[in-house]
Amino acid sequence: MISDGRKENVQDIVAQIENFDYNSFFRSVQPIAAIYIANYFARKTFKNFSIHRDLKPKNVSKVLPPPELKEIDREIDFESICAKEFGDKILRFIKVIIENFNPEVLNNFYNNLKTIKVSSKSLVLRNFLLQTNAVGTYSPKHNEIAIATETDDTTITHELLHMASSFYKDKMTRSGFNQFYLKELLNIGNGINEGYTELLNQRYFGGTEYPLGTRRAVSTYGYLKLITEKLEQIVGKEKMESLYFSANLKGLIQELNKYASEEEIMKFITDTDFILKYLSNKRPSLIENQSLTNCINRSAIFLITNYIRMLVLQEKEGIISNEELKEKANDYIKSIPHIIIRGKYEYIVYDLNDIDSSIESALEYRENLYASK
Ligand SMILES: [Zn+2]
Repeated sequence: MISDGRKENVQDIVAQIENFDYNSFFRSVQPIAAIYIANYFARKTFKNFSIHRDLKPKNVSKVLPPPELKEIDREIDFESICAKEFGDKILRFIKVIIENFNPEVLNNFYNNLKTIKVSSKSLVLRNFLLQTNAVGTYSPKHNEIAIATETDDTTITHELLHMASSFYKDKMTRSGFNQFYLKELLNIGNGINEGYTELLNQRYFGGTEYPLGTRRAVSTYGYLKLITEKLEQIVGKEKMESLYFSANLKGLIQELNKYASEEEIMKFITDTDFILKYLSNKRPSLIENQSLTNCINRSAIFLITNYIRMLVLQEKEGIISNEELKEKANDYIKSIPHIIIRGKYEYIVYDLNDIDSSIESALEYRENLYASK
């Protein structure tokens, strides 16, 4: 695959920066400039180290099963919720959730609802310190939502969806498809989690429709939303929604494992985490942009390949005809834009060669399927 060559390229650049002969370089420049340059390279080296780390596929063995299912109390104290800040909005949220989902998958929702804390506050300082532009936050550890003073109703429903899908125990957070231990130490699935949260927000609460299409501008969440929409077509809507609310990343991986290897799945998850982290960067470095292009390309190929593999399996099981397979594969590919644009940057999502290799790989899967009986 294309990926390996490009990955080596990143490693090469990192190595070049690390092996740079700073001492002889500094002797030839003025002291103040030297300090500035040293600082510049130190920052760059660290940044490139973190890009390298963020591209390294995570290990499937680190993904934990969801919290054990216990009998839970599904009583809701409407009065106390109504008395909270944003009480009316929380009540509307509860109504939509109860109307649309099976109570069996809503344990996290009922548990967290009992103690949820919601407040509005200025997120200016937080955004400045973390270099983000969040309009809302949810802390699974404290079961607490903070909403920026000036934002719309879909911010609170986005954060409430995080609340409805989170479980915190022993410093380990499971939130939808995201798992993390001590913040960043072990953080898996944040990309698909944010994308899917926004997809559900839009589906059930009319969340922001981020502009996207062929050669259209892209927002980070908009692109990740598209990725998870395409992922859901492989997994199935009902299945994927219940895995999300039960915070079952492991279940999602098992579901995808029908079509893709664990290694391929973990690479896909790592790539989408990378996209979340770097696509919002306004002034990306050359390496960041190269790596982003690779991640965007690889994640699209993963989706196309595994969607066709899923169709192949359906064809074998007599659920769809060969004609339908071709039609569905065609529609699916057409629904993914070839190029996305962000500011002055363009990212090629896939080209014709990628489609060829996706189809070839799906045909291989087909052969194995028929050979193994
Ligand atoms: Zn979020």
